[in-house]
Amino acid sequence: MSEQQTVDDCLFCKIIAGQVPSNKVYEDERVYAFKDIEPKAKVHVLVVPKQHYANIAKVAQADPELLAHMVEVAQGIADQTYRGQFRLICNTGELAGQSVFHAHAHVLTGEDLRDLPM
Ligand code: C5P
Repeated sequence: MSEQQTVDDCLFCKIIAGQVPSNKVYEDERVYAFKDIEPKAKVHVLVVPKQHYANIAKVAQADPELLAHMVEVAQGIADQTYRGQFRLICNTGELAGQSVFHAHAHVLTGEDLRDLPM
């Protein structure tokens, strides 16, 4: 995938639309959350806005309330799985390790993460 990816060939848009299978953990009118297929922690969930933005910085710029809502959803997942404590990672740009160019937040939780590298 590349940073030039369009909405039409966006993997996460297809997941949200149900065209590609995912293991959903939460959904509301603004966000969709599902288990990462390559978990880096006991609980590794991706929180994704339903509207297509290329990365999290674009969400912050266009719709700060949506960004706040994504954090709220992450908190809810951690509340249910690990005493409300979690790590939130948003790779922003190819050189930062972003591989899917539809904004998403990695929520890592479910265990003590202090020895897990960033
Ligand atoms: O931050 P980055 O863009 O690299 O994150 C994309 C994430 O999407 C990866 O952690 C990858 O495992 C996950 N993924 C997924 N289901 C897919 C394709 C990718 O959970 N079908």
